Amino acid sequence: KQANGDYKVTVRSSNHKGDSGLYNSHVYLVDNAGKFIGLGGKQVTLDITKTQGTLTIANNDKNRGTFDVVITNLTNPGGITGVVIPVWSDQNGQDDLVWHNATKQEDGSYKVTVSASQHKWNSGKYIVHGYLTDASGKNVSFGATSVDVVAPKKIGSASRGNYDVFNKIVYLDAGHGGYDPGASYFGISEKSLTLAIQSRVKAKLEAEGYQVVTTRTSDAFVDLTDRSRAANASESDIFVSIHINAAGSSDVQGIETYYYQPYAEYPSRINAAYHANPTRLSMSDTLANAIQSSLINATGAQNQGVKRRTFAVLRETTAPAVLLELGFLSNSQEAARLTTSVYQETLANAIVAGIKAYYEKESNV
Ligand SMILES: [Zn+2]
Repeated sequence: KQANGDYKVTVRSSNHKGDSGLYNSHVYLVDNAGKFIGLGGKQVTLDITKTQGTLTIANNDKNRGTFDVVITNLTNPGGITGVVIPVWSDQNGQDDLVWHNATKQEDGSYKVTVSASQHKWNSGKYIVHGYLTDASGKNVSFGATSVDVVAPKKIGSASRGNYDVFNKIVYLDAGHGGYDPGASYFGISEKSLTLAIQSRVKAKLEAEGYQVVTTRTSDAFVDLTDRSRAANASESDIFVSIHINAAGSSDVQGIETYYYQPYAEYPSRINAAYHANPTRLSMSDTLANAIQSSLINATGAQNQGVKRRTFAVLRETTAPAVLLELGFLSNSQEAARLTTSVYQETLANAIVAGIKAYYEKESNV
C-alpha cells in the first residue's frame, strides 16, 4: 500500500528463472473473510539479458582429427572478457582435459580449433563445455555439447620417418665435447657454451610440456654418426644441433642456421631411406626459418641467414633437423656476450619460441 492509497509490487525476472517473453499478472484483493476476488489482469513482454551462448561444432575433419567450436549469440549481464572451452574425450575420465582459449572473430563470434593430438589421439565422443569469463574474472558456464571424433591412427615418430606424427619430443644435440672442444678463443671453448645453452633450452621446453632427449649432458665426446643414431632411436619429432661459429677474420659476426642439402659425393650411411625425403626437407626448412628469425628478432645479431650443407648430423638424422651457429667465438664482442647468462637466456628463449612456432605451423597444436 502506498501513501496515496494505491498498491504496488515490483516483479523481478530473476524470480522467474530470468526468462524473457510474455509475463502474465493477475490481480486479486483479499477481503476480510480471506476470500480472493479477481480484479483483472495485465501482460507485459520482457527482453531479459542473461548468460547464454550457442556452441556449434564445425569442420569436423576425420582425416586430421580436428574440429572447430564456434560460439555465437553470447550474452552475459556481468560482461565478457574471454571464452574458454574445456574439452575431454569420454575415454579414461578427464585424463585428457584441456581448457582451450577461444578467439573472438570479426563477426563477434568466438572460435577455437581442437585437435585430437591434444587429447591423446582418442577417437569417440568428446565433451565440449562453454565458459565465459566475466568482468570480475569469474568463469560462468553457458552451455555444453559433444562431438564424435575420428582421430587418425598416429604411430611411430618423425625419427622413424612418420612425419605426420607429433609426440612433443625434441632432440637437442650440444655440439662437440670431451677431447673435441670445437672452436676455442679468448679462453672460451665451444663445447662448454653449447652445453650451457642446451641446458637452458631443455628446461624451458620441459616447462612448456615438451619432452627433451639429448646427446650429452656432460663434457663427453660423442661421434657424429652416433648422435644421429641416438636421435633415430628416440621418438623425437625434431633434431636441433647447437654450435658456436668461428671464422678466419675476427670481424665476422652473426647467427646462421643450417638444414640439409644432399650431395651425391656424400651418400648417407645410416639414413639412405629418408635423408632426401621431400617432407623432411620441407619441414627442416620450416624449422630452420622459424628458429633463425626468432633468434635474429630476439638478439639483434647480424642475420647470416638460413643455409644448406651436408653436415653429418643433418644427413644421418631421420627427423627434420637443423644446426644452429649462435655467434662467432672468433669475434671478441660476440665471444664476450655469449658467456653471459643474460645473453644465453635470450638465445634459449628465442630457440624455444622458434620451436613452438614450428609446432604451431606443422602440427596444428
Ligand atoms: Zn661446432
